[in-house]
Amino acid sequence: MDLSDTPEQAEFRARARAWLERNKPTDIADRGFALAIDDATVRRLKDWQRKLYDAGYLGISWPVEYGGQGKTIVESAIFNEEVARVRAPAPLNELGLSMGAPTILEHGTEEQKRRYIRKILTCEEIWCQGFSEPQSGSDLAALQTRAVLDGDHFIVNGQKVWTSIGHLADWCMLLVRTDPSAPKHRGISYLLVDMHSPGVTVQPLRQMTGEAEFNQMFFEEVRVPRENLLGPLNGGWGVALTTLMNERATLSLALVMRFQNVFQDLAALARKGLADGSCKLDRRLVRQTLAQFYIDVESMKYLAYRNFSRLQRGGTPGPEGSISKLLWSELNQRMNEFALALQGPHAALNEDSPYIVDDGRWQYGLMRSRGNTIEEGTSEVQRGIIAERLLGLPKGY
Ligand SMILES: Cc1cc2nc3c(=O)[nH]c(=O)nc-3n(C[C@H](O)[C@H](O)[C@H](O)COP(=O)(O)OP(=O)(O)OC[C@H]3O[C@@H](n4cnc5c(N)ncnc54)[C@H](O)[C@@H]3O)c2cc1C
Repeated sequence: MDLSDTPEQAEFRARARAWLERNKPTDIADRGFALAIDDATVRRLKDWQRKLYDAGYLGISWPVEYGGQGKTIVESAIFNEEVARVRAPAPLNELGLSMGAPTILEHGTEEQKRRYIRKILTCEEIWCQGFSEPQSGSDLAALQTRAVLDGDHFIVNGQKVWTSIGHLADWCMLLVRTDPSAPKHRGISYLLVDMHSPGVTVQPLRQMTGEAEFNQMFFEEVRVPRENLLGPLNGGWGVALTTLMNERATLSLALVMRFQNVFQDLAALARKGLADGSCKLDRRLVRQTLAQFYIDVESMKYLAYRNFSRLQRGGTPGPEGSISKLLWSELNQRMNEFALALQGPHAALNEDSPYIVDDGRWQYGLMRSRGNTIEEGTSEVQRGIIAERLLGLPKGY
């Protein structure tokens, strides 16, 4: 695979970079990978997404008739890479952009594509993912939220949990059980649910970072029009797999770029700490650890290239995304842990202290990164997928 830009791609990259440098918001804290959730930041991120859309930099590879730009996934990847390079924030409606819209584009009716895609792009409608339940996370197909057809509506009852940005969302990708008598994977349907419907309650859950980024959601006699069914009745499992594969596949070249930035910051922290004597770690240990992080980030890069070239040849995201997910989530935890080790006693400070290092970004990063190996499928589940679906090993369970 030739990894260099063609002259047209290089020109697109240069234009995109210059636009991003001119337009990126400078007043939103760079917190690595987490979504910011305070009201002011949400407003700023909404404006930022709208600006990206108006400039033609969202939905780059999606069909023009639904609001996209009709280019290829190469331009889309180039742009995402540049966003990460200049450390601009990701758009607020990330779940809609990376999962909701690709799933609707693949399984939706013409009407559904026209109804939803553009508003995902403009951030007029924010989306959340209502998959996990208290008794079904890794074993997602065990979900119990019920939907019963009553004329031209489904009546939904049940509970979802860990719903990221559910408190901000206008729409939900909701998995429901529509045939309790069928084997568990065959009785599930995929509904597009208006979060403002009567009977939907959202309760924020506070995380160890102190923020409430995710929620539990209750559905009581919620009426969902039949036309909001995405894909076939009782065929929702296949539709959900599209969402999950896209969730993992989006962690590609842009993510690598973000890790390269984090690596540079970590190296700068180490250099400073060793120079001013605040870092008490053995110099050789610091060098060895940083070298290993560098190798890990490079490995991520080549994995991303491999996955991307598969997509470029017309494939859909597959189980290979599990390798990247496993690698980045565990690497993020190790890098943040090491950043605190470099800080010595300063590691124990909180954001209120005048002596806090880098505005507390590493402390925050470490706490938030604990969730990385759980969200989007735990590390154990990713290893199971790699073992069974990529290596062809026998089933463990
Ligand atoms: C920050 C964050 C954001 C999230 N956002 C969303 C969201 O927006 N929408 C949504 O629907 N969900 C979301 N989730 C939920 C997430 O998908 C689930 O937490 C995850 O799938 C694990 O499910 P669980 O919590 O029920 O744990 P369980 O499935 O109960 O797992 C418990 C433990 O058992 C292990 N285990 C389970 N099954 C196996 C197996 N087959 N082999 C080996 N080990 C196994 C797990 O690895 C884990 O260590 C989010 C979670 C987090 C942490």
